Amino acid sequence: MDKNVKKVVDLLNQGRARELSAILQYMAQHYELENQDFGKLAKLVKQTAIAEMKHAEAFGERILFLGGVPTSKPDAEVKKGETISAMCATGMALEAQATKMYNAAAVACAEAGDHVTKSLFEKILAEEEDHFETFRQIKDHVDQLGATYLATLTGEGE
Ligand code: FE
Ligand code: FE
Repeated sequence: MDKNVKKVVDLLNQGRARELSAILQYMAQHYELENQDFGKLAKLVKQTAIAEMKHAEAFGERILFLGGVPTSKPDAEVKKGETISAMCATGMALEAQATKMYNAAAVACAEAGDHVTKSLFEKILAEEEDHFETFRQIKDHVDQLGATYLATLTGEGE
């Protein structure tokens, strides 16, 4: 495999490992929130997990196209038993790390002459910024409004 292609495949696999961690983390949060009857927040977290699955697939498909092997290994442990504020902080950390990683990867892909992969990183990066912002807003509300806001997150999600 060409040196530049290998570099791009490695970046894609690092991204994929990050996505797999996010999927597992958000699925775990989804189940915990569902169990605590925070159905509305559970649904949002579940939808985020599904968005991360699409990212993992997009990276995996690009890796295959380039002749590489998509990794199946997440790069972090799942955190369990957190408060809602801490769950949001965990999500924000995952999203911030992904954003930083994909920004750097986009630059590295351009240097390696692969503008298609660069665009893929940029597209996913924009979605991670949105995820970060969603978790940040929820955390702010929980921290500032407390029980009043938490009450709005209960009930039927899905
Ligand atoms: Fe993602
Ligand atoms: Fe995300």
